[in-house]
Amino acid sequence: MRRGFLLILFGALAGYLIAQSGANFETPALAQASGFSPVKPVADRDVYSPGTEALAPDEMRIVACGTGMPSVRPKQAAACFLVELGNGDKFLFDIGSGSHERIAAQKIPYDYLDKVFIGHLHVDHFGDLPSFWLGGTVMNRLTPLRIWGPSGHKPEYGTKVCMELMQKMYVWDVGTRSGVIDFRGAQLDVTEFPFDGVNKVIYDENGVVIRSIPAIHGLDGAVSFILEWNGLKFVYGSDTFPNKWYVEHAKGADVAIHECFLPATLLVTRQGFAPLEGLSVGTQGHTSPEQFGKVMSLVKPRHAIAYHFYNDWDIAPEVMRRLRKTYDGPVALAVDYMVWNVTKDDIRVRMSAVDEEIWPSPALKKKNPPDFTKVIPMSDFTRSGALPFPEVVGPIYAEINKLYGTNYEPSIK
Ligand SMILES: [Zn+2]
Ligand SMILES: [Zn+2]
Repeated sequence: MRRGFLLILFGALAGYLIAQSGANFETPALAQASGFSPVKPVADRDVYSPGTEALAPDEMRIVACGTGMPSVRPKQAAACFLVELGNGDKFLFDIGSGSHERIAAQKIPYDYLDKVFIGHLHVDHFGDLPSFWLGGTVMNRLTPLRIWGPSGHKPEYGTKVCMELMQKMYVWDVGTRSGVIDFRGAQLDVTEFPFDGVNKVIYDENGVVIRSIPAIHGLDGAVSFILEWNGLKFVYGSDTFPNKWYVEHAKGADVAIHECFLPATLLVTRQGFAPLEGLSVGTQGHTSPEQFGKVMSLVKPRHAIAYHFYNDWDIAPEVMRRLRKTYDGPVALAVDYMVWNVTKDDIRVRMSAVDEEIWPSPALKKKNPPDFTKVIPMSDFTRSGALPFPEVVGPIYAEINKLYGTNYEPSIK
């Protein structure tokens, strides 16, 4: 945005000078400075095309993969932010409903997407975990999926039990693939940490330190995260009422993300909330734009990010008007596919150009061959209904056998 703005400024200045001097419209200096030419590609389109840009060794890239509300919509999935670092590490913070699609649009091999940090166990913050877990396994993540999440006020409210139950819930899905594909990626490696740890380290690998602080939201068992690497500090609030831990420990952040809910007035007029409901959800259970601004005025990050509202042309000005009552610093109102490139010198904000026809990447690592001893067989009853169509399937096998010098036969005859 900064470059775009400078370009506009430069263009306006050049236009003014041309008008003053009466020069003709041929301005080689402008063409050279902007990189424009009738035959060359535009040097910088101010758009991020996933999978096409290297990260500098000291650079952090943040991609909004979900910025909306619990009820997802085509424009906005629920909470999810991807953080990519110049050392090659990638982290997902929350993985709310609908966000898997946005993650997939980044064209990042699943082998590299094996770390998920869940702020709390609301469906809009981890609803796409099953899809990402098992879909990623099928799409060739060959390492266990690592998950960090808070404890609750009782064990059954914590992340560990939740993940055990998720594995039980998907026992049929896992069963269908047992012995059929390399299923190492179906393993879960769950780290549950105390929800009441204040700035306690929960991750420390490869020069990246992640700490958790308590959040105030719903029940005990909600947290915010602070990632520090290479002198850069990223804070992700997940959901929280304004709190002292965030204000104290997010200080000095390069990028601070905090929820910023729809104004209570809009909850009433657009969402059909009763006035009291709008007030309690919009200002007590969540953080209103005015409260968001107050928090950021105390934190003073290099760049603040507001999310967790339906961000449209008619909503954004009202959210901005309200948060500007209490905050005058740099801020972005996040929408899905917004991208931030962060270095010590610059924070660049752009939108992604998303390819809806993108395919997931194949596995990067060598797969284990199937272990047919682990296949769970169907009953004779189910198999008795099969129509093997050998005249159709036989030639498909023959085609592959000829191409690859193999001698396979259909298992259903
Ligand atoms: Zn929540
Ligand atoms: Zn939420």
